[in-house]
Amino acid sequence: MSRFYITTAIDYANGDPHLGHAFEKIGADTIARFRRLLGDEVRFCMGMDEHGQKVAQAAAAEEVDPQALVDRLSGRFRAMWERLCISNDRWVRTTDAHHKRGVAALIERCLERNPGDFYEKAYEGWYCVGCELFKRDHEIEDGRCVLHPTRELQWTEERNWFFRLSGYGEFLRTHFDAHPEFLQPESRRNEILALIDGGLEDISVTRARLSWAIPFPRPTSDGVEQGTWVWFDALPNYLTDTGYPDGDWQAWWPAQLHVVGKDITRLHAVIWPAMLQCAGLPIPERVWGHGFVTLGGERFSKSAGVGLELGDAIDRFGPDAFRFFLLREVPWDADGNFSWERFTERYTSELANGLGNLASRTLSMVEKYCGGAVPDASHPEIDGKVSEALATYRRAMEAHLLHEGAAAALGLVAAANGFVQAVAPWKLAKDPAREAELHAALAALVRALAVSATLLSPFMPVKMEELWARLGSGRAQLPRFGELEGLAVGGWQAGAGDVLFPRPES
Ligand SMILES: [Zn+2]
Repeated sequence: MSRFYITTAIDYANGDPHLGHAFEKIGADTIARFRRLLGDEVRFCMGMDEHGQKVAQAAAAEEVDPQALVDRLSGRFRAMWERLCISNDRWVRTTDAHHKRGVAALIERCLERNPGDFYEKAYEGWYCVGCELFKRDHEIEDGRCVLHPTRELQWTEERNWFFRLSGYGEFLRTHFDAHPEFLQPESRRNEILALIDGGLEDISVTRARLSWAIPFPRPTSDGVEQGTWVWFDALPNYLTDTGYPDGDWQAWWPAQLHVVGKDITRLHAVIWPAMLQCAGLPIPERVWGHGFVTLGGERFSKSAGVGLELGDAIDRFGPDAFRFFLLREVPWDADGNFSWERFTERYTSELANGLGNLASRTLSMVEKYCGGAVPDASHPEIDGKVSEALATYRRAMEAHLLHEGAAAALGLVAAANGFVQAVAPWKLAKDPAREAELHAALAALVRALAVSATLLSPFMPVKMEELWARLGSGRAQLPRFGELEGLAVGGWQAGAGDVLFPRPES
């Protein structure tokens, strides 16, 4: 059994979860569930980024203590992820005592191993609290950060600790060359390689007098206490969650996959590996920089003022249908749009009329013609489609092309529905001489249904368990991926049950 440690970005505790957050968590959850399907031992970590000026400002605006604000938001995010059936077994908060100690230990380790990588400098520039970054001229439009057009930039002058990121260009280039899979998809890799090849600039890693932060282990020479820059505090969450610096943290480090948005890929594919290299620790195996969900072509985000109530979208057809729609509609390696019309269309054609219909007609025929007992037989045509779907699905899912994985499973559903039409089991049932054909068709359909349910279970965990239960295999758990080829269905006791995906009221 192999181990698979997957993480998502931790979210800033300065507002409620929105569709952009949900897209990332649902995608990562689907990958985590797919790895469990393969039989991996999975550790799945998510959490909250709770320090920094942006959080302090949000708390001040509400006149509450920052800790009270982050406690409340942590609860709201967790509740939302539970509602969406996200299966993370770890929840990290950067205000946790263990995390703070882990960050301090990591920075100390860097300072001890490579003291020359840190130096003091008086610095001035335009600072975006939204990004928690100093912005360069080309990142500023009409005096505002291009990513945060509703926020004022702050002119900031102070003496800080700097990290010599410029010294890591060659290391990173070599790492990218030796590990072409390190950063995906390809478009992200090309962006970041261009950045590395253009020469990296040193970064300021402390903020003077920032109280809502992990104290940086060294004051500057003017005696001013420094707060750790929020990203130097946040990135190590992936490491501190393994227990670092205590105990058997190497059991889970390095992580196999960091799932992050394309806007913060640079931090994960440049700054984070440089920081780890400085500390002499292993680099994560892969970073996946997903795209954005847009609404009417505009990026979904609180700061850009583009929104939709996440709760409304989940309530429309339930959490499983919402998860499925997002990952089916928005390519996991690109941007995509959310629209209510498309949501209803896909739900109706692919779930209600596609999978739901296949389930209800197959199971009612098994009930009607065989008293619910699934015949012990097979049919080469559908069995061939099953093998094809398994191969396509696995290839897509291992490459993290979730939309293609979903399409492969739906392809099997469509083939099975076409088979029902072509074979017309209700005609075979009228002729006792064709009983063997009828049994072969029904068994093949149940097998196709069992395989479809399993392949779609990472996307729709609750509904697919429900479907699995109706197949009456006598096993509480869905099968593992490796059991699907040639899955024996003879003797199962199937029951049709209620409509799985009710058609929308028009
Ligand atoms: Zn910004």
